Amino acid sequence: LNNIAVLTSGGDAPGMNAAVRAVVRTGIYHQLNVYGIMYGYRGMLKNEIFPMESKSVANIIQRGGTILKTARCKEFYEYEGRKKAYENLKKHNIDGLVVIGGDGSFNGAQKFSQEFDIPCIGLPGTIDKDIAGTDSTIGFDTAVNTAIEAIDKIRDTADAHDRLFVIEVMGRDAGYIALHSGISTGAEHILLPERKTEVNDIIEELQANERRRKLVNLIVVAEGDETGGAAEVGRIIKERCPQLDTRVCILGHIQRGGAPSCTDRILASRMGYAAVDALLEGIHNVMIGIVNDKIHYTPLDKAVKAKQEIDPEWFKIVKILAS
Ligand code: ADP
Repeated sequence: LNNIAVLTSGGDAPGMNAAVRAVVRTGIYHQLNVYGIMYGYRGMLKNEIFPMESKSVANIIQRGGTILKTARCKEFYEYEGRKKAYENLKKHNIDGLVVIGGDGSFNGAQKFSQEFDIPCIGLPGTIDKDIAGTDSTIGFDTAVNTAIEAIDKIRDTADAHDRLFVIEVMGRDAGYIALHSGISTGAEHILLPERKTEVNDIIEELQANERRRKLVNLIVVAEGDETGGAAEVGRIIKERCPQLDTRVCILGHIQRGGAPSCTDRILASRMGYAAVDALLEGIHNVMIGIVNDKIHYTPLDKAVKAKQEIDPEWFKIVKILAS
């Protein structure tokens, strides 16, 4: 192993920079040449590949986003596109690739590593935490903390006006951000894609709450909940409970930005270090995860989107603690 490259791909997540930094500095420590690739697979196809030094990653551990930029790349779905990308890597004699991204990016890396002789290592970077083979993903902890900060602020104004707020957090396929932020902010209800919620039950509870003068209610909805997101939940509540002062707030992209939390910086640093370590050890085509605080390898083709069962006990906790 002499020359490795690193890229960020797919949806961005806070902590990706800390991971890039760890890959670059660990590579340099082991006397490897480290290249950065701009804009994910698109940059691989367009030969946007440049050598990185230790100072290229100075002053980025605390920054959100990704200095390598990210993109989606249609051509990489096709063999011809991947071949072009391979030829560009070969021009720089790259013999190892670290891909920081989500399950889509790992699918691409898996195909690429099967077709060509460049080993790939994946690092899970996504705020959604829905990847098999790791207890958490780079970006989740920061995103959930951003959501908590925002919801706390909403609670202040909800309390001042006795309002009901329906708040939408990110999570198209997975409800971890909703579950964690909802429990942490004392939400009365949490709606997730993993579990069907009867809006009727919520309405009945709201009416009961009103009878006992519990007027401040927070309902946290993951964007992928099948009722149709916060806008739809809010619409139904307004229609059925016109006497309540109901507002809808969609947190949106603020959840993807900002300085990564301590947990995400450490996760990214450990994973970036482990990625280079794996390449040096000859461990190829795996995703690096951390399971029970230990580095865990998952073959790239098994590093898929994983909708884990959410233990029903969580919902009991939500109900009891918010009652
Ligand atoms: P994420 O990595 O966040 O899940 P995407 O699903 O958009 O994001 O994947 C990022 C990129 O990875 C895509 O734009 C594409 O270039 C590549 N990719 C995704 N799936 C495949 C696939 N099945 N085959 C080849 N490349 C893929």
